[in-house]
Formats: sequence, C-alpha cells, structure tokens
Amino acid sequence: MPLAHGRSYLAIPGPSVMPDRVLNAMHRAAPNIYEGAMVEMTKGLIPDLKRVALSSGHVAIYIANGHGAWEAAIANMFSRGDTALVALTGRFGIGWAEAARRMGINAETIDFGLKSPADPEKIAEALKADTAHRIKAVLVTHVDTATSVRNDIAAIRRAIDGVGHPALLAVDCIASLGCDEFRFDDWGVDIMVAASQKGLMVPPGLAFVWISDKALAACRGADLATPYWDWTPRIEVNEYYQFFCGTAPTHHLFGLRESLTMILDEEGIENVWARHRTLSEAVWAALDTWGQGGDIAMNIADPALRGRSVTAVKIGDGGAGKLRKWLETEAGVTLGIGLGMTLPSDARYGDFLRVAHMGHLNAHMVMGVLGTMEAGMTALEIPHGRGALAAAAAVIAKG
Ligand SMILES: *Cc1c(COP(=O)(O)O)cnc(C)c1O
Repeated sequence: MPLAHGRSYLAIPGPSVMPDRVLNAMHRAAPNIYEGAMVEMTKGLIPDLKRVALSSGHVAIYIANGHGAWEAAIANMFSRGDTALVALTGRFGIGWAEAARRMGINAETIDFGLKSPADPEKIAEALKADTAHRIKAVLVTHVDTATSVRNDIAAIRRAIDGVGHPALLAVDCIASLGCDEFRFDDWGVDIMVAASQKGLMVPPGLAFVWISDKALAACRGADLATPYWDWTPRIEVNEYYQFFCGTAPTHHLFGLRESLTMILDEEGIENVWARHRTLSEAVWAALDTWGQGGDIAMNIADPALRGRSVTAVKIGDGGAGKLRKWLETEAGVTLGIGLGMTLPSDARYGDFLRVAHMGHLNAHMVMGVLGTMEAGMTALEIPHGRGALAAAAAVIAKG
C-alpha cells in the first residue's frame, strides 16, 4: 500500500523546499512597477544580497535561471576571442565552460575528474605558463552539484596571486550560496553567480551576479555584453526599470524579500551555515553506516571536501534508481538523479543518486528522508549496514 499521501518532500538539489512564508509573500495582486512600495522594497534587496554573499561590491539581478547567470557573467567579463581558464570538477564546471565556448571564448580547461576538488597548484602552474597574460579570468564552481565536491576558493585566490597573474576569479555559487560558508570579500572573489531556487529558497526565475570594484573596472567595454545582459545599467541605477531592463520580476522579488529576512535577520547567515553543517553530517553519518554493510558510498570520500548542500551517492547494482523510485511512489520523498557520472544510456546510470540538503530544512526533515531511505532499502532488499538512523540522530543530538 503506498504511503506517499501527505505533504511531499522534494530533496533534489534545486528547486529546493520553498518556505510557505516565501510562497505566501508572492501571493498578491500585481503591484505598480513605476513607483511606490515595490520600488522601495527593491532598493532594500540590494544591500541584503550583498550581505548574504559578504560582499561590499555590486550586484545585478536578472530574470533567469543559473544558466542565465553563467551567461550574464561571461557576457560582461569577456570580449570575443578572450581566454578563460575553467576548473572542471563535475557537470556544472563543464557546463560553464561549454557556455563560454559557445559565446566565442577560448575556454581552456583543467579537468580534475569527478572525485576530487580543483588543485590550486595546477591552476597556478597554468597561470605561470601564461606569461603573456592572455587568461582574463579563472572560472570555478564552489560546490559542483553533480559530484558534490567543494572547491577551496580562498586557496585558488592565493594560487592566482602567488604567481602574480592578473586573472579575475569568477565563482559559481549557485548550489552553495546560503548553505556553505562563502565570503566574497575575504576570499578575494571578483565575480560570483547564484540563482534564486537553491539556498535562497525562492522559486526558479532570478539570477544574480556579484561584482567587485576591481572586476567592474577590468571588464568595462567587454564586447560580448548585449543590451539585456549588460550589467552596467543594472548596478548604476537611475530609473527603476533599469534594474531589470524592463518589467521587474515582481512576485519573485517579494519572495526574495521574505527569504533574505529569514536568512539574514531571523536566523543569521552564520547560523544558516552551521545548520547545513550539522544536517549534512547527519546525512553522511547514515550513508557511512549503510556503506558498512552494502555497496553504498558517497562520491567524495573525504568529508572535508564535500559540499554542505548536496551529497552524490553510489548504490550499486541499480540500487540508486530503484530506491529513488520507491521513495517517490511509496513514501512521498523525491531524491535527485545522478548527474554527469555516467550517460543515461549507460547500464550504470541507475547506480547514482543525490540527496539534497539545501535551504529550508531542519532536523526532522533530514531524519524523515533518512528513515524513508532505510525503509526503501529494506523493502527492496538492498544490502546495507545497520544503525544508520542512530548514527544520524547522534550527530543531530550534538547539534
Ligand atoms: C543548479 C546549478 C546550475 C544551473 O542552474 P539552472 O537554474 O538549472 O540553470 C549551475 N551551477 C550549479 C553549481 C548549480 O547547482
């Protein structure tokens, strides 16, 4: 008998769980976009978006998803024919490099594989070899949502500076902002991209680009920036419509206002990071225990290298695919598909899944996901170690 009726839980790495408060804030009549409350509210979003990234720079908002944020950053950073160095640590780094190539950028890549983070030494070597300083920017994903590896952004900055290379540092925080510790100013980031539907807990539809003063000056005149994607009018605003190059994403902005209040003013960004730290460790404790009695393993072996918002998992013999299906039909929980580990046509495709633990979630939601995963493994006779829930509960008990 299916036990899936009741409130379902989408544990995929975006869109994440949306707080009712965010949804309710969006549920309203269309506002005036030329004057009044909407205009005032938007002005307040800008400093709060900077606070969430610990940035003193600038921020541009677009009506787009993460792919749009990638393109926005590329369009403003580069002129056609410029060179970028892209660190690949999974499907999302690859995607950013592909977007750059299709826009006419010479995207050189260093492939760090699917199981390890970017090695700052290798980035330093590539920059050192670039004596003509052709490389305009280094592009790196903070947390690659496919492999769930976390890259050390501060170390990559030190590597760039260590060889005296002027390259800008551009970071994709789409999967990590509002989940994993991120410090734009302190870590010397020049450009950062994010989107609304992950750690920020708002429906998909808003893309953001943060820009340092240095990057703003270095990118002035980049010839790929078309009228819609040009960040200049969006950050040097005189008229409200310039913020959005047209009609504002009105309802998303009300949702974002609510989510930023929750993150910054009610919980506090450091507490948000701490919550993700503990909840991710509860998930990892369960997975470690299951793995002691079956072919179950996290993709990134070293916990110090894992992102705090999503965990990529292998369950052999097609177990991951079967478990995902069981959870959705029998228990009302949807886990993420494995992404970029094998092609969907590959027989091993069913060996991979991802558990998202990003955004609006708490201890009971995580224990619920883990408990239903264990029920599914038992029902499907997927071999697994005993005691996973106790291990997860022990992590949560410590807080
Ligand atoms: C989700 C994600 C993207 C793509 O975002 P879309 O909104 O799906 O276009 C890019 N990079 C990372 C790291 C992501 O997690």
